[in-house]
Amino acid sequence: MQRFQAFRFELKPNGDQARDLRRFAGACRFVYNRALALQQERYAAGEKKLGYAGLCKALTAWKADPSTAWLSEAPAQALQQALKDLERAYANFFAKRADFPRFKKKGRSDSFRYPDPKQIKLDQANSRLFLPKLGRLRYRNSRDVLGTVKNVTVSQSGGKWFVSIQTEREAEIPVHQGTAVGIDLGIVRFATLSDGTVYAPLNSFKRHEQALAKAQRAMSRKVKFSNNWKKAKARVRKIHSRIGNARRDFLHKTSTAISQNHAMVCIEDLQVRNMSKSAAGTAEAPGRNVRAKSGLNKSILDQGWFEFRRQLDYKLAWNGGHLIAVPPQNTSRTCPCCGYMSAENRRTQARFECVECGFEENADVVGAINVLRAGHARLACEASGAVRPPAAGTHRSDSGAAARCRA
Ligand SMILES: [Zn+2]
Repeated sequence: MQRFQAFRFELKPNGDQARDLRRFAGACRFVYNRALALQQERYAAGEKKLGYAGLCKALTAWKADPSTAWLSEAPAQALQQALKDLERAYANFFAKRADFPRFKKKGRSDSFRYPDPKQIKLDQANSRLFLPKLGRLRYRNSRDVLGTVKNVTVSQSGGKWFVSIQTEREAEIPVHQGTAVGIDLGIVRFATLSDGTVYAPLNSFKRHEQALAKAQRAMSRKVKFSNNWKKAKARVRKIHSRIGNARRDFLHKTSTAISQNHAMVCIEDLQVRNMSKSAAGTAEAPGRNVRAKSGLNKSILDQGWFEFRRQLDYKLAWNGGHLIAVPPQNTSRTCPCCGYMSAENRRTQARFECVECGFEENADVVGAINVLRAGHARLACEASGAVRPPAAGTHRSDSGAAARCRA
């Protein structure tokens, strides 16, 4: 199996390099935004959307234009990559995977990519990375990079610059010895497994929320763009990046533990994107329970369910296991003991009590057991030839792997 893996390090640019990093990120943002504006103008004028080749032509014209000739100072391939990113954003929009592409703002996810491995040289022994137009950059070498380098993305977060080195290597898929398990994702508990294991909520945002609110208040009292305002802004940014780090760490630890212990992981195919859509609704159809739902939305985003699921998927694949998404139907209301399905079984949010047979259990564990059952049922259907379309395209195993897991 080809194993793709990204290695992320903090960059240690010198003064000139730090300035160039900002300029290049700015140039790529400019190109992205200008191309987006161009596409919107064409759409408004009833013209066809430009393809990648057409955008590249436009880019050449901008570079030749004296007012934007400074674009030539940025690495050419990184600018072209910005156009590809826009194309991708449009494709995601047309495929209903994402909202319409938005203009990029300065300071928000500043990044650019070197797509060509031939232009990149990684010198791990000296902790240096050579990148076009930046030269040799020092990085905080915290671990070995495995595999051949495919591309490099440079990004800014919390006032620091990072590099993400994407690699590819041939890796054998081990035979996973773990068991099958179902997962119920929730707000009160982040994840509950069908074997009773519980992962506490992340809520890193909540823990830092007060500190963040305080820092934001302090910033709002300062005169905009004054030195004190800049200091306050740096503090806000720092808290934001601390929140991001805590969340990343938690998600990785949890997904690693689960993917190592279990060969088959079943998960509810929640449409995280739909769930996190604005609860306020529209003028014609105002949302119900707006306050409760916006709280829920915030928690979902805060918990990083989507990222968690993405990590589970690839880590399981690395370990020889696999992820199965099952449609979320009555998993919280069906009795795992007798199969009786009723909303009455769920008297409270936390407790499940079957009105038919009296089976009692924590509601999240019941949900996880039902998810596991649904996963087994899906596999059985596939084995018998009555194949149903994959729930979310996450089930990437062949039937051999499936048989291994059931055993
Ligand atoms: Zn029952």
